[in-house]
Amino acid sequence: MEENDGFDFFEGVPYENLCCLQENKLRCHRQAGNASYSKRIHKIVIELKLHLDNVAKHICICDYHKNMIQREIRDRNQRKATALQEKAPKVDFSQLSIRTLNRYKKFRNIETKPSTKKSQMIEIIQKDFKTIPVHEKSDLAFFIYKIKTGSNQLDQATSNDNSTD
Ligand SMILES: [Zn+2]
Repeated sequence: MEENDGFDFFEGVPYENLCCLQENKLRCHRQAGNASYSKRIHKIVIELKLHLDNVAKHICICDYHKNMIQREIRDRNQRKATALQEKAPKVDFSQLSIRTLNRYKKFRNIETKPSTKKSQMIEIIQKDFKTIPVHEKSDLAFFIYKIKTGSNQLDQATSNDNSTD
């Protein structure tokens, strides 16, 4: 009787045509597609608890695992984008006096109705603030200049008066 060592074929697919990945330490039994393993996906493959089978003689991946890896890359990029958005500095405008808020409005040419409440004004300002592009070099220089010359003392001196201008 001729013995099949069980490694040449799996359900009609030549073993070497199988996906090169191992899942739960078992070689994937899906047919390899045209996607291939690369350094770029190495980390993701490991984090998905997949391994490149050491005995695989090629680096082709099945469609199932290709989709799994692509989905993970997409999710990751999305998470990164969300994290970046959340990392953007949040300024608590409610801590500022009406006078300061009015100065901001004037500086940014924002028009509000006289009946606008402080909370509404803060919302408008917050939205506007997010749209201001950051010019790191010049903004930093300007900021340091302000701190050094103490020109913000004006705001501190007036923060307690409820002047409505
Ligand atoms: Zn596979």
